[in-house]
Amino acid sequence: MNDCIFCKIIKGEIPSTKVYEDNDMVIIKDIAPQAPVHLLLLPKEHFANIVEMTDAQAQTLGRCLKKLSTLVDELGLQGGFRLVSNKGADACQSVEHLHIHVLGGTKLTEKMG
Ligand code: AMP
Repeated sequence: MNDCIFCKIIKGEIPSTKVYEDNDMVIIKDIAPQAPVHLLLLPKEHFANIVEMTDAQAQTLGRCLKKLSTLVDELGLQGGFRLVSNKGADACQSVEHLHIHVLGGTKLTEKMG
């Protein structure tokens, strides 16, 4: 996708702080963190959200989450973490490239909305 900011980040055309990268994904620091650790897991293949995800993309996303589970210590998430993926206007999705927010590094509040 030519005009997708996360595709540009993945390709290195826009600067970001990458904390992990493999063939399936990059994990970057969110530019406006809402927790001491606020990362974005970005599958490299562009799709807008979880509703548009194909079976193959779901398999890739599963691999990404499994890999994330092995990075807990090095990402500073030993105490626990929250995964969030916004879809659409009601959830205030602002970037139309599927991403998983990874929040942690502190005791998060119970409220989600
Ligand atoms: P969402 O509202 O769920 O679509 O989340 C998009 C997230 O992307 C927000 O938390 C933004 O702070 C973050 N974001 C937008 N642009 C950048 C960027 N250039 N580098 C890192 N994070 C970004």
